[in-house]
Amino acid sequence: MIYSIEKITTLIGARRIGNTDAQIGWLLTDSRSLCFPEESLFFALQSQRNDGHRYIKDLYRRGVRNFVVEKLQVEGEDLTTYTDANILIVPSTLSALQRLAERHRDEFNIPIVGITGSNGKTMVKEWLYQLLSPQMTVTRSPRSYNSQIGVPLSVWLLSEQTDIGVFEAGISQPGEMESLRDIIQPTIGILTSLGDAHQENFRSMDEKCTEKLHLFHGAKVIFYNSDDNTVSRCIRRSGYDGEKIGWSRENESAPFYVASVKPSNEKPGLTEVAYIYKGERGIYHLPFIDEASVECSIACAAAARYLGVTNEDLDLRMQAIEPVAMRLEVKEGRHGCTLINDSYNSDVNSLDIALDFMNRRPDHQGRKRTLILSDIQQSGKSDFELYNEVNNLCQQRGVARFIGIGPMLMKCADCITIADKAFFTDANQFVQSETFHSLHDEVILLKGARAFGFDQLTELLEQKVHETILEVNLNAVVENLNYYRSFLKPETKLVCMVKADAYGAGAVEVAKTLQDHCVDYLAVAVADEGVTLRRNGITQNIIIMNPEMTAFKTMFDYDLEPEVYSFRLMDALIHAAEKEGITGWPVHIKLDTGMHRLGFDPEKDIEELIARLKQQSAIIPRSVFSHFVGSDSDDFDAFSAEQFRKFDAGSSKLQAAFSHKILRHIDNSAGIEHFPERQLDMCRLGLGLYGIDPLDNRILHTVSTLKTTILQMHHVPKDETVGYSRRGILERDSIIAAIPIGYADGLNRHLGRGACYCLVNGQKAPYVGNICMDVAMIDVTDIDCKEGDSVEIFGEHLPVTVLSDVLDTIPYEVLTGVSNRVKKVYFQD
Ligand SMILES: *Cc1c(COP(=O)(O)O)cnc(C)c1O
Repeated sequence: MIYSIEKITTLIGARRIGNTDAQIGWLLTDSRSLCFPEESLFFALQSQRNDGHRYIKDLYRRGVRNFVVEKLQVEGEDLTTYTDANILIVPSTLSALQRLAERHRDEFNIPIVGITGSNGKTMVKEWLYQLLSPQMTVTRSPRSYNSQIGVPLSVWLLSEQTDIGVFEAGISQPGEMESLRDIIQPTIGILTSLGDAHQENFRSMDEKCTEKLHLFHGAKVIFYNSDDNTVSRCIRRSGYDGEKIGWSRENESAPFYVASVKPSNEKPGLTEVAYIYKGERGIYHLPFIDEASVECSIACAAAARYLGVTNEDLDLRMQAIEPVAMRLEVKEGRHGCTLINDSYNSDVNSLDIALDFMNRRPDHQGRKRTLILSDIQQSGKSDFELYNEVNNLCQQRGVARFIGIGPMLMKCADCITIADKAFFTDANQFVQSETFHSLHDEVILLKGARAFGFDQLTELLEQKVHETILEVNLNAVVENLNYYRSFLKPETKLVCMVKADAYGAGAVEVAKTLQDHCVDYLAVAVADEGVTLRRNGITQNIIIMNPEMTAFKTMFDYDLEPEVYSFRLMDALIHAAEKEGITGWPVHIKLDTGMHRLGFDPEKDIEELIARLKQQSAIIPRSVFSHFVGSDSDDFDAFSAEQFRKFDAGSSKLQAAFSHKILRHIDNSAGIEHFPERQLDMCRLGLGLYGIDPLDNRILHTVSTLKTTILQMHHVPKDETVGYSRRGILERDSIIAAIPIGYADGLNRHLGRGACYCLVNGQKAPYVGNICMDVAMIDVTDIDCKEGDSVEIFGEHLPVTVLSDVLDTIPYEVLTGVSNRVKKVYFQD
C-alpha cells in the first residue's frame, strides 16, 4: 500500500518541514537495508546504543528524501538545509512508527491472528501459514519480527490482497505488550507454551503470563493449552470474555481434546494425532515426533479448524508441513564459490532479507552475486506482479546472475531483466546444465523450497567437509557485542579483537559481521592476518598488535595500523615510512603498566617518547593504551588501580604534548564489566565477544560449537582394552563409538582416559583410552544412539569451560586450539 507523505504527516501527528510531494511504500529503520530511496520513509530511532539520526546524512546522499526525526540538529548539521526533503518532527520516532502501523491496521476489517508465548511463536506462525495459504492469502511477520520495531514493520505489510494476517508478538519486560496489542489488534489470539524464557524481568510466571495475555484484549477467540494451570488461572482472572478454545490432552470436555499422540501404524515415520474438536472426531499425521513440534501442531490444528480448514485438508497439509529453518548459513562452496543457504520459506519479504544479507557482506574480489531462486508459491499476487517485484529487488540489491527454478519462473522469464539469467523446470535439469558447471568464484544465494529439490542442490554445491565441523553462530557474536556495548557510553569507541582467527571462530566472517555492526576498530596479532581481512573486503580500521619488522611495507600497502611498543620498533617504522615518502601514518602506542610484556614505561620513557615522536612526521599517535593483568578478579583490584593510575598519568602527558585527539584505552572484556568507569575513549573486546564472560566463566551467547559424528560402533566385552597402550580398560561389557576427531584437530590428549566427555544425543559419553591423532573413542553403552549420529565436543550444550577446567587452563586456549583443518560453518538466525 502506498501513502502520500501528507497523509502520513497527519496520521502520526508530526510537524512537517518541506513540501515536496512523495509517495511512501517502504518504512526504513536500518539504513543498511535501503532499497528504494524515493519511496522510503526513514525513522531515526534512538536506542541506548545507537542514534538513527546519525545515518540521515548518508541516506540523503543515497537519495532518501523523507525522514521522521526527533531533532533537527545532528552532529553539527542542520536538517532544515535539506530543502528538497520532507522532515517530519515528532516527540518519539518509535511511537510514530507504531502509530503509523496502528492506523494502517485500522484500514483492515479482516481476521488477524496474534501469537505470543515464550517458545514456539515463530513455528506456530509459519505452520499456520502453511496450513492456511492454500485457501487464503496470508500476510505474516517475516522471520521472527516480533519486537517493538519488528511488529510495526510486519503489520505495515498488510495489503489489499490480504485475506488474513498472522503476526507474532514478543516481549522481554512488563508493559511492552500494550503497544504491540494496539498495533496488531488481533481478532484471534494464540498463546504458545509459556516456558521460563525472559523470566529475569518478571517477578513470577503469573505476572509474565498476565502480561502476555494483554495482547488478546478485545479478541473474539483465544487458543491456549488448558492443561497448563498457570495459563488457565491467568485467563480466568484476566476478565477476558470472548470465546475460549483450550486444547487439552487430559480433559475430554475441552473444546479441542487431543485423544492420542502415537507413531502411526499405516504411515510409518509419521506421528498420528487423534482429536475431538467441538464434538467432531478428526485425525492428522505429522512428519515430526518431538514434543515441541507436536505441541505446536496442536495449536495450529485447533486454529486452522476454527478458520475453516476441513479435517481432510488439515491432514494432507500437516503431512507436508516443512520444518522452520530460521538460519541463513554461509558455507564454502565448490570452485571458489561462497554459498549462502536460506531454506526459509520462499516469499518476497524473506527474499529481500536474504538479498540484503548477501549484499551487506563485503567482497573485495568483486565476485559476482548470483541468486538461485525457486518458484514462490501462494503469494496472493499475480505471477507477473510477483516476478516484477522479484526483479526489482534483484536489480536494487546488485544480483548479477539470476537462476530461476520452477515452471512459474520459466513462464515469467521476461519479467527478469538481468542480462545473465537462466531458467530450469527443476533442480535436476539445472544440475545437468552448462550453467551449473559454469558456477565459479561467485557468491551464491540459494533460496528455494524443498519441493524443488534444493536440499540436494545445496549438497552438490557444497564443498565436501570432513565430518568434524565448527559451527559459528554470527547472531550470538552480535548479541555478545551488544551485551558489552550496554556497559559503554554512546561515545565510547570499541576495538574488537579478531586475533588468532577470531579466537578460533574464523576472522573473516566474524570481522564482516562486526564491520556490519559498525565497531570502530578491529585488531589482529600479525600483518598477514590483517592482509587476509583486507583481501576479503574489510574496510574498517585494523590494528596490528605484534607488527613484524619485516612487514612494514605490507602494512602501508594494506592500510594497517601498527602497535608501537619500543624505541627500536619505532625507529625502524619511521625509517621505513620515510623511505616510502609516507607522512602521518597512524600508530598505537603501548604502555607497560605492570604486565611486563611489551610497552614503554609510562614514567621513565614518556618524555623521550614524546620528543622522538615530535621530531618526525612519518607516524602519528592515533591512540595510547595499556593492558590489565588481572581485570577479571577482585584479588587484583588494588594492582589494577595502580596500573590505571600509571596509565592515566603517562597517557595524559602524551596527549598534552599533541593538539590532535589521542584515544586512550585500557579496558578489555573483563575490564568493561568490572571497571566500566575506566572505559576512557575506547575499550578492547576479546573473549566476551566469543560468548564467555571472563569474570565468572559464564556463557553469554554460545558462538562456537565443535561437532562431529559417530563413525563406527563396537560391542567390546569386559576386560578388553581400547586404544593405544591398552589404557582404556573396560570394567563392563561396553559399546564403544569411534569419532573422527583427534588431537590434531585440537582435541587435547589430556581429555582422554575418562578425564572428560562429549555429548551424544544430549547424554554424556566419556572418552575411553588415549585420544589418537585423528580419532577418539567414547563410551556410549548407556546411550540410545547409532552410527552417523551427531556428537557435540563443546558448544551449545557443553560449555567450553568444562573442557578448559579439566585441562586446568583457560577457555582461550581451547577455543584457539581448534585446528585449521576443521571446517567452519557460519549461520545466522
Ligand atoms: C587479546 C587482547 C585483548 C582482549 O582481551 P580479552 O581478555 O580477550 O578481552 C585486549 N587487549 C590486548 C592488548 C590484547 O592482546
